[in-house]
Amino acid sequence: MSRELTYSNIENANLALLKSYLTSIWRRERFSDGYMASMFEKGLVVDILWRLKALRDNAVTDGKKKAAKWINQFIRITRFNDTVEIQVCMIKWPHPHTPKSTWHTIHKLDGFTSQEVIDELVEKIFLDKRYFKICNECDQRNPIGHMHSNNVCQGCAEQNHGIVH
Ligand SMILES: [Zn+2]
Repeated sequence: MSRELTYSNIENANLALLKSYLTSIWRRERFSDGYMASMFEKGLVVDILWRLKALRDNAVTDGKKKAAKWINQFIRITRFNDTVEIQVCMIKWPHPHTPKSTWHTIHKLDGFTSQEVIDELVEKIFLDKRYFKICNECDQRNPIGHMHSNNVCQGCAEQNHGIVH
């Protein structure tokens, strides 16, 4: 058999490297029976799988952070002395090219309302078609003020249909 392959730095490997490690283990198994088993015994395969899991978990967290950031642009929670208000940003176009955004209170709650209840209400607003709609063409959720029509966003209307706003 040719030179020994080294599988180093697995704890920091990226997806491409892990993929090449797995491919090489698989290939070598085809040339020498038991190679994969020996790599299992060394703990190498499990190390690779753990690293893959860590990468996947990070990707999920990043996705959640991105979603939260997006929501924070358009839905906010404002605390007053005895109340908590959930507000949504509505975008209007009083003049073409000059959007005007204003915050509207959707829920006025007792100051002691739990975060869990608040989160649930925020999610409901996020899914409420009176405030946000999903564009059929780019699949993105938009505040209604950024929708060209019921199911096409302004960006897609411009890009795909040549409509000038
Ligand atoms: Zn779109």
